Amino acid sequence: MQTIPFKTILSSYREHGWFGSNYTVNLYRGCSHGCIYCDSRSECYRLDSFDTVFAKKHATSILQQELSSKKKKGLILTGSMGDPYNPFEATEHLTRDMLHLIDRYGFGITLLTKSSLVTRDIDLFEKIQTHLPCAVSITITTADDTISKRIEPGVSLSSERFTALKELSAHNILSGVTLMPTLPFITDTKENISAIISQAKASGASWVYAEKMLAVSLRDRQRDYFYQQLDERFPGIKMQYEKAFGDQYWCETPNKTLWDHFVHECDAHGIIYSMHEIERLIRKRNDVQMSLFES
Ligand code: SF4
Repeated sequence: MQTIPFKTILSSYREHGWFGSNYTVNLYRGCSHGCIYCDSRSECYRLDSFDTVFAKKHATSILQQELSSKKKKGLILTGSMGDPYNPFEATEHLTRDMLHLIDRYGFGITLLTKSSLVTRDIDLFEKIQTHLPCAVSITITTADDTISKRIEPGVSLSSERFTALKELSAHNILSGVTLMPTLPFITDTKENISAIISQAKASGASWVYAEKMLAVSLRDRQRDYFYQQLDERFPGIKMQYEKAFGDQYWCETPNKTLWDHFVHECDAHGIIYSMHEIERLIRKRNDVQMSLFES
């Protein structure tokens, strides 16, 4: 596959990032999963050919140097700017190599993905969680495979992602669902929210995380791409977006009772949903020193 030179791989958060992470790593640049709403197409990220995946050149050796020189151990987040289990990972093994290093140097991992390939690395998650937390959050935006194929054409079907969650929880890997984004007029129904939460529970998920607005963010060329795809895949919906949101960045569901429904369903199923609670669970589950994550 094509490679691209990079000087550094590991970045530190000034405070902490999602899921209590201290560092972030992205081993690939770009993502070929083709989700029609993907925010990483926005101009601010300056990824002109975002759908083409590049491996960061010498990623493993650069990361090894960086991890070996860090005095402070902590949680490493991957998957914020592309999927660590993009189709190339099946043969390139950059993510698997990273997990080996994370285990060797005593770090923890929080991983975001939409691919069931994540279950390939359960053996390494089991090793990592013996010293620091390991948490996997699988993004699922719809419980309907037909809709998932239309809005996320390159990723595992939603049903396959629920199966992956089952496999992770069967191996005692802490896992949950990231329910983001919510697409107004497409996935913002009570039926969809209920189905995701009940299937998450049945699959052993500990959390369903959604941003309070239940929205999709849209800007510049990301919006252009999204609208073009709406015309092809959901004729007529683009007009509803234009009418409801104009040029707004945050496009919230017009269904004002949906958040309350989300909370009610989570509570009814014993699923946690606030990031604060999720972070607390990650710390507690692995019995690590709180000070590592609060500094
Ligand atoms: S998997 Fe994530 S990074 Fe890849 S296209 Fe979909 S939303 Fe974007």
